Amino acid sequence: MSETAATDALIVSKVSKAYVAGETEVQAVADASLTVARGEVVLVQGPSGSGKTTLLAMCGALLRPDAGRIWVDGIEVTATPERRLPEVRLRRVGFVFQSANLLANLTALENVQVVVEAAGATRRDAGSRARDLLAELRLGDRLDSLPRQLSGGEAQRVAIARALANDPPIVLADEPTANLDSRTGYQLMHTLELLAKERGKAVLAVTHDHRIEDVADRILWLEDGRLADRPPSATETDRDPVCGMTVTIEHAAGRRTVAGHDYAFCSEICLDRFDADPDRYVNISRA
Ligand code: ADP
Ligand code: MG
Repeated sequence: MSETAATDALIVSKVSKAYVAGETEVQAVADASLTVARGEVVLVQGPSGSGKTTLLAMCGALLRPDAGRIWVDGIEVTATPERRLPEVRLRRVGFVFQSANLLANLTALENVQVVVEAAGATRRDAGSRARDLLAELRLGDRLDSLPRQLSGGEAQRVAIARALANDPPIVLADEPTANLDSRTGYQLMHTLELLAKERGKAVLAVTHDHRIEDVADRILWLEDGRLADRPPSATETDRDPVCGMTVTIEHAAGRRTVAGHDYAFCSEICLDRFDADPDRYVNISRA
């Protein structure tokens, strides 16, 4: 292993994953490599369908890659038998999803407590750990609330407390701000930042929310399953050659390069029209 192994909590090396549906195969992630060190926040951005969730699921040992290797906190999960993976997921990785995914019939406290208990703690210890975590996340007065009684931001903070329940070195977040208003979204991202800076977690967050770039140590760009270091500027825009609308490159439904010129598309509809007859639109936009 490389000399970075001591600090890199997460190492992803040349990982690929394809989905087969009937006769079509989608290459969701292609030859992706990245590392996340303790104390670091790394963002993965990219358009919808570019493979972000697939990449994150593999990092959390929820999904096995077809090729490549992944180390989670020093454990090569790609060489770990299936029956040993639940333990890795429980203790080494905390997941925060797009929606909080809390158990509806359990209180905030219980939602966190059950995860601590699952790792072998007594009910009493689990309760006090859950209480401490929720208090740290400014939810000390919401312990007995059911998920439906919480605001979106509060529910996501409970989800973070749950992700931290067993003090994992790695926190993975898949579009954690997607269902939050922008102010609550900022707060959530600053919470993730604190996890890295004050508690030494390795944080890998997937998002296409460019407002939260400020908290990132590094930003990776994923497009068609391939990682690149430098994303297009968030403010860079182009004109959709099909409908003529202005498109933020970052939020484009897709991009094409024809004869050395890049085109960005507002939606799948325009992308399909373009693909059916590129010459038509290329000629128009050059005229
Ligand atoms: P993102 O999170 O960036 O939107 P995903 O990782 O969800 O991207 O998807 C990447 C590609 O793989 C997409 O083309 C998507 O349609 C496809 N895909 C994702 N999950 C599955 C699945 N379970 N079966 C088949 N195709 C899938
Ligand atoms: Mg996704």
